[in-house]
Amino acid sequence: MPGKRIAIIGAGPIGLEAALYARLRDFEVVIVEKGAVAENVRSWGHVRLFSPFGINSSEWGRGALPEVDLPASDSLLTGFEFFEQYLHPLSQHSHLQGCIQENTRVLTIGKRHLWKGDAIGSRARLEAPFMLLTESAQNGEQVVEADFVLDCSGTFGNHNWLGDGGVPAIGERQLSERIDYCLPNITGQDRSRFAGRRTLVVGSGYSAATAIVALGSLHEQDDDTEVFWMTRKTGETPLSSIEEDTLCGRADLTAKANELASNAASKINWLPASYVREIDSGSDGDIQVTIEINAEQGGSDCKVLAVDNVIANVGYHPDRSLYGELQIHECYASQGPMKLAAALMGETSSDCMTQSSPGTDTLKNPEPGFYILGAKSYGRDSRFLLRIGLEQIQSAFELIAAEAV
Ligand SMILES: Cc1cc2nc3c(=O)[nH]c(=O)nc-3n(C[C@H](O)[C@H](O)[C@H](O)COP(=O)(O)OP(=O)(O)OC[C@H]3O[C@@H](n4cnc5c(N)ncnc54)[C@H](O)[C@@H]3O)c2cc1C
Repeated sequence: MPGKRIAIIGAGPIGLEAALYARLRDFEVVIVEKGAVAENVRSWGHVRLFSPFGINSSEWGRGALPEVDLPASDSLLTGFEFFEQYLHPLSQHSHLQGCIQENTRVLTIGKRHLWKGDAIGSRARLEAPFMLLTESAQNGEQVVEADFVLDCSGTFGNHNWLGDGGVPAIGERQLSERIDYCLPNITGQDRSRFAGRRTLVVGSGYSAATAIVALGSLHEQDDDTEVFWMTRKTGETPLSSIEEDTLCGRADLTAKANELASNAASKINWLPASYVREIDSGSDGDIQVTIEINAEQGGSDCKVLAVDNVIANVGYHPDRSLYGELQIHECYASQGPMKLAAALMGETSSDCMTQSSPGTDTLKNPEPGFYILGAKSYGRDSRFLLRIGLEQIQSAFELIAAEAV
């Protein structure tokens, strides 16, 4: 579409794939990335993806790299391998030369000469260009104009709080620098922080399970490594298993983490139905965490844990401030775009692999020309898969083609 400009926020896997897709259709493209290419994937680069390379990458992406020795389609890559063997070569493709502005953050987005409440439902909103206010150390504040915007800025990095009800526990904000909200490399570069130390892990998803399995293996090497694992969940095990899970890596992780929690010799102390009330720094440099336990019994008890580390794998949320001046209809529960969120609410399976494609229409929202794709499109729902994001790109361009005429 010569002469039409697309601005893409984020050079993660979905932003890069969308950019190439757009360049192959002759759009002018700018990708604005607050860090470096695949910043988030690299921050959890030591973790192995559950889904194979063949479904994590697009046909058009692989097709554009005939000279690159790509991984086999059934390869289960770590985040680093995915970056080095695919995302980095993709970002270097001649079609994307000069398109990526790294170390530049999008602060907010508006429409030229139109305020949030103007021209509701009118074509005038489509005709007015988007203005993206960006900021970088090198160029200060600038405005990027575009006819279409794809918000592929993900959620990773915007962590939730670990206190009860998602509210910061007392003292949590002051101590947040000492809390790991992402995925430390426990058996690799961060080993010395965890070996022979006491760690509290909070959460009952796969990130928490990854931390537990890594800490379990440290305990085998160093008997003093001690772990407390807090979950809101009660029942027999901290994680629910997916019946006949087609992803072996995920099934193994679930089984190992659950086994460690039930094995008294593992020094993984599972605390079901527990909530963090307060966090404070102890006098000898440790972290004192006041927790409420046995909360499902009605009358709960309080206990103070003294630990050296706190890993809070309690999820992430989208940065909605980017589109605060646009007309976006979002879900009050997941904070994803409303139509897609409604479709996802109808998906009852906890296995993200069995999700059906939500469909092109679910990407539409009241602001024409603006699409939220990738992990951010799922809001707080953690079931997003790259496979879905690649389908979203194709759907978004069907809608853009209709809008661009
Ligand atoms: C540990 C882990 C394992 C996972 N394993 C799998 C798996 O096996 N299979 C699977 O399908 N999915 C998996 N996922 C889920 C998902 O596929 C990934 O989160 C994926 O990285 C999402 O890609 P994305 O491009 O949507 O977002 P991201 O990779 O998060 O990229 C967003 C980009 O936007 C940038 N950005 C953010 N805000 C701004 C701003 N204001 N201005 C400019 N740039 C900005 C960020 O720096 C980042 O580079 C996993 C996720 C995690 C955390």
